[in-house]
Amino acid sequence: MSAIQSSCAYCGVGCGVSVASTQADWENVDRANLTLTGDINHPANHGHLCAKGERLLDSLTQPNVLRYPMMRSGKPINWDDASSLIADKFANTIAEFGPDSVALYLSGQLLTEDYYVANKFAKGYLKTANVDTNSRLCMSSAVSAMQRAFGEDVVPGCYDDIEHAEVIVLIGANTAWTHPVLFQRILAAKKANNTRLVVIDPVTTATAKQADLHLAITPGADLALFHGLLGYLADNGHVNHGYIKAHTEGFDTVVSHAKQLSSGLTDLAQQVGLTEQALKQFYQLFIQHKAILTASCQGVNQSVIGTDTTNAIINCHLALGHIGQAGCGFFSLTGQPNAMGGREVGGLATQLACHMGFSQPERELLANFWQVDMVADTKGLAAVDMFDAVADGKIKAIWIMGTNPVVSLPNSQKIAKALTDCPFVVVSEISPDSDTAKYADILLPAQGWSEKCGTVTNSERTISRQRGFITPKGQSKADWWAISLVAQKMGFQGFEFDNSASVFREFSALSAKVKQAFPNKMFDLSGLTNLSQQEYDNLLPTQWPIASAELIGQQGLRVFSDGVFATSSGKGQFISPAKSVTQVTDYDGKHASVLLNSGRSRDQWHTMTRTGHIASLRASIPEPVIQLHPNKLASLSIADGDLVTIGSATDKASSPFALARVAVDQDMPFEMAMMSMHWSEQFSLGKGVNQYLDSRVDPVSQQPGFKCQDVVLQPV
Ligand code: SF4
Repeated sequence: MSAIQSSCAYCGVGCGVSVASTQADWENVDRANLTLTGDINHPANHGHLCAKGERLLDSLTQPNVLRYPMMRSGKPINWDDASSLIADKFANTIAEFGPDSVALYLSGQLLTEDYYVANKFAKGYLKTANVDTNSRLCMSSAVSAMQRAFGEDVVPGCYDDIEHAEVIVLIGANTAWTHPVLFQRILAAKKANNTRLVVIDPVTTATAKQADLHLAITPGADLALFHGLLGYLADNGHVNHGYIKAHTEGFDTVVSHAKQLSSGLTDLAQQVGLTEQALKQFYQLFIQHKAILTASCQGVNQSVIGTDTTNAIINCHLALGHIGQAGCGFFSLTGQPNAMGGREVGGLATQLACHMGFSQPERELLANFWQVDMVADTKGLAAVDMFDAVADGKIKAIWIMGTNPVVSLPNSQKIAKALTDCPFVVVSEISPDSDTAKYADILLPAQGWSEKCGTVTNSERTISRQRGFITPKGQSKADWWAISLVAQKMGFQGFEFDNSASVFREFSALSAKVKQAFPNKMFDLSGLTNLSQQEYDNLLPTQWPIASAELIGQQGLRVFSDGVFATSSGKGQFISPAKSVTQVTDYDGKHASVLLNSGRSRDQWHTMTRTGHIASLRASIPEPVIQLHPNKLASLSIADGDLVTIGSATDKASSPFALARVAVDQDMPFEMAMMSMHWSEQFSLGKGVNQYLDSRVDPVSQQPGFKCQDVVLQPV
């Protein structure tokens, strides 16, 4: 029996998998001859997998696989004609309306190589930065906060911090469900080291049930909680003045504002929805313990104050001098398997490759490297604005790859209409069944997990190989290949890549140039620049920065440990909240409406396109469910098991959108409801919950504020 090591397709833990075959010849290997286990040598999971990961092979049996390029009419078309058509449409649109009349919308499912070529194509050759990604929906508030505080989108710590921490604080993160393998590691550390677990979440989630201290704060009070903590630490003489003076800027301004909150603990406790005793107990942990690790996820990020909240968390750890030290600091739990890899190559419309911005020197470096006259001169449109521009007719051609914005973006009725009206839509997908694929003028067959080859970067900066092990179906191709073909049809030089290894080498070489020109940048793949094909094929999981080839395989790496940051001054930045420290909701406390949070469930993934067909995963929650407190149900005269429609409380004119079955949940706060974001018309009778939430965004990160939206329930 032989085995191939790859990585899981689902979440940012980035678990390694080992796929074994009883068939000696991997060419045309039969699914029935394959088994999948966790890779015991992978540093992210040491052999462990969650329920979704264990069933990865089941995801290969899709009811409908896209095998060849297709026109909207369903008529097959060959790659040569499809790519010529796309090249002509993009070229003509740009010629008539300018570069910003076209856009690419990408996905954390793409491999780094795909992302790199897409960004080179758009920002280098089409001259537009209208390239955004669904990572905007999950991580961009953390990205913006790290850029503001550290000068770069860099997570300072690593998974090993779990074993070194005395206290782990999880905020806005149902880690037991969304990052299960990491959560098992946290529980193991709790048992072995007596690590204290604090969970900050309005809901008593599966994660909160395992906590030593659960702080069920008022929804949206997380910023006030951490801003007040900074004031409390200062009031109690527990900030590291030596570190603050030597390594940071902006402390005095932030702390004077924070002290206004902490000076009235009784009021603050009331504001955040805790007893004064619980608030003090939490704050005292930061005084009593040296190693505190705070990890956040979507509960913080998907809010209109997500960036300020993340900076408030970072402010506290900066004040303690606890960045890049063992067992402490801030950690961002990444949603998707390659959200971070995408950000490294400039996958967000607000960045260029290798964590560069749009300054003249940065743009010139990139233009010289790609041998173009100049790259896009300014930031492009982030996801919500991008689809608004499609709706307004400003973007007239869009290429969507590996994502389903008709279900995942807020206010998707508008997205669907925008795509209907858009003169030219290309969708790269593994299946023709996704809700977004229906709007494609040209549908391109993309290689999926198990077929494609490349790299991904997980939450702790570890680059892992994703290796193909089955022969791609029909005419499906890697996304980097499809983009390169279109680029060449448009007459662009620089897209003659032989394989994913050659793309990766070019990206690493760019990283070396960037590091040379801007030495204070932390991102560095210089050591991978000269990888041979064999070395790329055999690449071990490795954390960046990777300054030399000898560092391949390095793990447990922390950065900024010396107190030197990637900012222009080299100092870490304290950031003041822009305005209010409390998220404003429309909820008026009247019994007819509830504050709705959407989130992920344990056994499903994104819009279910890959997991919705797997019976064993579907069994745990077979239909859309909305969880409510029993007293809330009584007040609404709704019973457990009833079907309800869910409609906007703010837009009274809109019709109800989602249809769900009510489930009584004692753990839900009275004013709140919870519904999984996965469902869509493809898998249920109604639309998904995100689909009609309004598209308010965080003003800094442009991340949609999916949490805490005011809705009305009506019995069917
Ligand atoms: Fe995959 Fe995440 Fe589960 Fe690991 S924890 S097996 S990466 S879904």
